[in-house]
Amino acid sequence: APRSPTWTYVDGQWLPGNPPLIGPTSHAMWLASTVFDGARWFNGLAPDLDLHCKRVNRSAISMGMKPTMTPEEIEQLALEGVTKFDGNVAIYIKPMYWAEHGMPGSIVAPDAASTRFALCLFEAPMDAGASVTLTVSSLRRPSPETAMTDAKAGSLYPNSGRAILEARARGFSGALMLDMNGNVAETSSANVFMVKDGVVFTPVPNRTFLAGITRSRVMGLLRQAGFDVREATLSVQDFREADEIFCSGNYSKVSPVTKLDDRELQAGPVARKALDLYMEWATDLVSEE
Ligand code: PMP
Repeated sequence: APRSPTWTYVDGQWLPGNPPLIGPTSHAMWLASTVFDGARWFNGLAPDLDLHCKRVNRSAISMGMKPTMTPEEIEQLALEGVTKFDGNVAIYIKPMYWAEHGMPGSIVAPDAASTRFALCLFEAPMDAGASVTLTVSSLRRPSPETAMTDAKAGSLYPNSGRAILEARARGFSGALMLDMNGNVAETSSANVFMVKDGVVFTPVPNRTFLAGITRSRVMGLLRQAGFDVREATLSVQDFREADEIFCSGNYSKVSPVTKLDDRELQAGPVARKALDLYMEWATDLVSEE
């Protein structure tokens, strides 16, 4: 096989590079009927790959599509795909569905014939543990009444993109986004935690943000290690007064927050512990096989 930093499985074959897949008559092209998920491969590990493969199917169903693959098939393909890369590179694993047909200005045709699938893998260096800085965004997460917030849909991301641009213009790497009620929801691309007096808090899911797979994993690992981890309604003020803030997401796992607007913070011990626990858990999974 040729050397390529990107491989895509589509319609029964693996293609290198960036193959054209969507035509001008495709519903996805016109009305953004796309869903995706993201998992990681690094050091021979693909933590929670099964959950990411299940979620992409749930996202497709939420958007009115009909998944054409089982989660197990997607997982097997992903493991096949990683063998096309050098053993030591870190990879982003992105399964996707999109719709070919639908009504103008409307939802997709919910049939398997209209639903297309691709699995894209590309090299993406791991930056686990790298710190981030956050500013409170003027843009909010959509409420469940105004968007399909239970799907990991491409159409939900331009708003996060605008929040990132706003954050960068202010000199920050990411945005802390609020929900429709003005409480903290998540960051522009990850879930968020705070620590106060030894207790770990994270926003309670209210269908305005993605309650991530890494978030659940980190909560479980911290609890197992004896931490008091609570889901709560959290204000910006709560975060401003936090002893420690960190983010969770499949891409970077755990990222300490070192600045929230004008407040400087240290990369703290709980974030460090969460990342260590995550890496130990992921490594143990492989050695158990
Ligand atoms: N929120 C948003 C908006 C995201 O894009 C992501 C990354 N998928 C997350 C949270 C973290 O979710 P997960 O841990 O499932 O990757």
